[in-house]
Amino acid sequence: MSGWIKRLEYGFREDFSAFTARWCGALRLGPAPLPRLSRQKRKEYDQVPCPFCRTWKAVRFRQTADIVQCARCSVVYLRTRKKPEILNQLYQRYADAGSHMALPRTRDEAARSGLRRDAFLAEILEFTPPGGQLLDIGCGWGAFLLGARERGFQPMGIEITQRAARYANQELSIPVVTTELLETSYEPGSLQVVTMLHVLEHLPQPQAVLAKVLRILRPGGLFAGIVPNIESFCSRAEGERWFWLDPHYHYVHYSLRTLAHHLAGAGFRTERLYTALGDYSLQRLQEIAVATHPELNQRAAFEAWRRKIEADQQGEEIRFFARKPDLDVGYQPRQAWHEIPAIRTGSQPGDLR
Ligand SMILES: [Zn+2]
Repeated sequence: MSGWIKRLEYGFREDFSAFTARWCGALRLGPAPLPRLSRQKRKEYDQVPCPFCRTWKAVRFRQTADIVQCARCSVVYLRTRKKPEILNQLYQRYADAGSHMALPRTRDEAARSGLRRDAFLAEILEFTPPGGQLLDIGCGWGAFLLGARERGFQPMGIEITQRAARYANQELSIPVVTTELLETSYEPGSLQVVTMLHVLEHLPQPQAVLAKVLRILRPGGLFAGIVPNIESFCSRAEGERWFWLDPHYHYVHYSLRTLAHHLAGAGFRTERLYTALGDYSLQRLQEIAVATHPELNQRAAFEAWRRKIEADQQGEEIRFFARKPDLDVGYQPRQAWHEIPAIRTGSQPGDLR
């Protein structure tokens, strides 16, 4: 028996769909059964294999929804999910008042919006000079593109929320189309920068999208973005209640390793990859931390702990900066996904590795 367990621990999990629980080391064997859907639900929901390796072999990752972890590539994904066309209707509400993507009411509000993510734009400029075409996929009403234009880029956007796209076109004079990326006809090798800020996790076909992004970028062009981190402190601590779990809109949940793996698989060379607290409120983080570590009620102790969480790459979001290689032939990733050090694990019963 012990020899068999060792085999599982050392990389045969795709053969067995077997995982060891982080907390107690117990083995969990067998695939997560596919939920049966009523005829009514089948009209609204799709059931899908891993969006990257197409295998159905998966184990349960969360209980709130049919969220599973692929037994082959370890990516976490929503296996039973609303059909994209149904979700597209829901996305039309994103521009409404009360939504985090609500349209600004004044020019001044647009100019000061946190959705501009000026710090992220500044980081992009560490990798590429301004001046070329920058395409923001899922650009909302164009906040980020507004900043990109001010910094010298030629901004372009894709946005499925019609009202948001109209605002960018009419109020900001930024060209934004409502066509899905896979349906667009950008010239191959033409774009300097492509960005996706909290978008990649929403896409039903991430593999095809990554391939298309690579194709339309010019050699050496930059692909940069942000996704939630499924291995963050709060994801582990809050489990089913984690804010970014969002079991309607979020189809795929990445970790540093799975994101690096799939970026490399698509042909990108990852230049920088790290986690940050991001949009998660500091106050919420402290509440969650204090629940298990009461001493973190003290401001100094909390600050030190928070810095450690980020140093340990357990921040709530992952920021990535990847480049299309200059040479299409003979390219080797500078850092393969398995060379990225394993994420230090928390102690969360039921977590899977
Ligand atoms: Zn997979």
